[in-house]
Amino acid sequence: MTSRTIGIIGGGQLGRMLAAAAGRLNFRTIILEPQADCPAAQFANRQIVAAYDDRQALAELAASCDVVTYEFENVPVDAAAILALSVPVYPPPTALEVAQDRITEKAFLNRCGIPTARYHAVDSQADLEAALTDFAGAGVLKTRRMGYDGKGQRVFRSAEDSPGGAFAALGGVPLILESLVPFTREISVIAARGMGGKVACYDPAENVHCDGILDTSTIPAAISDATAEAARSAAEKLLAALDYVGVVGIEFFVLPDGDLVANEIAPRVHNSGHWTEAACVVSQFEQHIRAIAALPLGDPARHSDCIMTNLIGDDIDSVPAWLSRPNVLVHLYGKTEARPGRKMGHVTELKSEEKP
Ligand code: AMP
Repeated sequence: MTSRTIGIIGGGQLGRMLAAAAGRLNFRTIILEPQADCPAAQFANRQIVAAYDDRQALAELAASCDVVTYEFENVPVDAAAILALSVPVYPPPTALEVAQDRITEKAFLNRCGIPTARYHAVDSQADLEAALTDFAGAGVLKTRRMGYDGKGQRVFRSAEDSPGGAFAALGGVPLILESLVPFTREISVIAARGMGGKVACYDPAENVHCDGILDTSTIPAAISDATAEAARSAAEKLLAALDYVGVVGIEFFVLPDGDLVANEIAPRVHNSGHWTEAACVVSQFEQHIRAIAALPLGDPARHSDCIMTNLIGDDIDSVPAWLSRPNVLVHLYGKTEARPGRKMGHVTELKSEEKP
């Protein structure tokens, strides 16, 4: 084993689950996060309480770690690049650059031969009106940067939907108008690429969102083998093109004929991969730690079908009921205040086959 201390930028639940997985493999972890006693720090050996782009904190993190990773895609690219001068940073900072801007992301996916929705850059109300005309009045308007969980979006379903004032309403920042994809379901694939280029893909999950936030992931997804294979193959192409190391999550829309349209890349462990901790021997979190620490990747095969449900806000009150059910793994994130829309934890229920 070459790496002994792993730095993690970001202190949320993904960092917490990475720190727990790292600890089991005898790695120490240091979290860089401005909020003290964050969910990740509760499971880590140490926290550096500072902004993600604080030069002194970055120097301290680089000097204290053998490898640095991150748990969210809006890590300032400059911070990752500064760290990369003195310590290996995985996934490579170029993956952040690609994922942080929806136009760069789509152009990159298309260059890899992976289809996306058609799109136009929108930098003014006039751009928006021209783009909507091109899409016969239907489309999804999104902020190019910093959008998450459906925030910063407006859907136009037909030419009757007036775009009046929509550019300003989204903050007057650079936007993208995507064509409205007539999908039948949404899936995601979680894949890992190791230091030597080996790829391990988990089975695609079928995702249902509620108010823009992931509600459930069901495995297996109700898709054909060909569609599942296309998702895996897209992940392999993308990982190779980025010379990637670590876990990635890729979200897709499934069209009525089974073809895939890629929506988003998350260069990190992903909410729709939380089921792997209950239904696979090696979870996405351990897989990520193995990849960035130059260890062999684990087997991504699932031993059970399952459904993962996010616990959002007051859903936390249902924990005692979940705990009293068989075949359910409950995972809580250590957040004290259950605000609406806040991810408090998740549960994964294994589906055992009916016995005759
Ligand atoms: P996103 O923030 O890109 O993940 O979008 C949030 C949700 O909005 C997605 O999970 C879809 O349900 C819906 N959505 C996003 N983009 C499109 C699109 N181009 N066409 C249809 N639905 C979309």
